[in-house]
Amino acid sequence: MVEGIHRSTRIIVDGAAIRHNISEEISRLDNKSELFAVIKANGYGHGIRAVAKLAKQAGATGFCVALLDEALDLREAGFVEPILVLGITPVEHARLAAEKGISLTVGNLEWLQEAAQNYLEDIQLKIHLGLDTGMGRIGFQTPSELTVADKFVNEHQEQFDFEGVFTHFATADEKDETYFKLQVGRFKEFMNALKKRPKYVHVSNTATSLWHAACNGNMIRFGVGIYGMNPSGREITPPYELQPAMSLVSDLSFVKKITAGRSISYGATYTAKNDEWIGTIPIGYADGYERRLTGFHVLVDGNECEIVGRICMDQMMVRLPKEFPVGTTVVLAGRSGNQIITMTDIADYANTINYEITCGFTERIPREYKNMEVTK
Ligand SMILES: *Cc1c(COP(=O)(O)O)cnc(C)c1O
Repeated sequence: MVEGIHRSTRIIVDGAAIRHNISEEISRLDNKSELFAVIKANGYGHGIRAVAKLAKQAGATGFCVALLDEALDLREAGFVEPILVLGITPVEHARLAAEKGISLTVGNLEWLQEAAQNYLEDIQLKIHLGLDTGMGRIGFQTPSELTVADKFVNEHQEQFDFEGVFTHFATADEKDETYFKLQVGRFKEFMNALKKRPKYVHVSNTATSLWHAACNGNMIRFGVGIYGMNPSGREITPPYELQPAMSLVSDLSFVKKITAGRSISYGATYTAKNDEWIGTIPIGYADGYERRLTGFHVLVDGNECEIVGRICMDQMMVRLPKEFPVGTTVVLAGRSGNQIITMTDIADYANTINYEITCGFTERIPREYKNMEVTK
């Protein structure tokens, strides 16, 4: 992968915002509960190692990732805290996970049997049993299936450290609680099928911990809130201020005046009605600034400027209210003057969710960090 180092387009991550969001959430937990920072997908685009460091500073005691490789990256960086891989790991890597002290999610008996038989002869693996209460993604389907797995794990304690049990909610970010309550009911039935509760019982993503904290269990998997984004978009207001951690900035690489009748970009879909100032910005869909954002706006010196013509792979054009010098800062997400563009604004325009926007920024955009150290 080639990182864009000699370019003006960059992502700025504010460490103070990340610490603020995590500290606020921890202050709402009872003192027996832990916060694991969900830092999959390169920390939702913010940088996995940097976010891990900030999360620790703010009091997170463990991490959740999606892939074994993300967990291995954290171990390589020297993080010794518990790490849970939330996805299903191919069973042939069970031994590697065990060697690194990484906890894996297990969703069926067959995985346990195969791991015990072929990969864990002389080593113990930490596992969390995933329960499908209605997400329909991974996990045990019924309490009786769980009972069988629980028994198997208890009979293979040399191979398995049964560390946790969890489920995931499909609608915790919605006002209507009907389906959420259905899942809670199923989770209770699952829990009754267990002989003994493991160390960690966890059900909460950000939305659950913000709006259904009574369900929390003794650990929460706090993800999108870390980054200062509302998991519900705009549907429900968080109980405290989430501070956006990521800004996306660039500059004007080229500025020109065009005369009425001239067109802009592929397909010549935009034609100037008047003489206009047009600025070019060196970012495009290959950076994760999606093509369907054509028609949205950026901030130039506190002015909303419309993106005109189709967004290209590496560049795009905006209509400026007046001439600005080449090199003028452009804010694509974040604050400029008294204007702000949030990831939710971008997501709404692109008809998606804020998560997808920050995860989508590619490695070509360098990440810059500020406020990485705690100052008193
Ligand atoms: C990604 C994920 C989370 C974190 O979700 P947020 O909405 O970002 O808080 C929690 N649990 C599981 C199982 C996940 O896959």
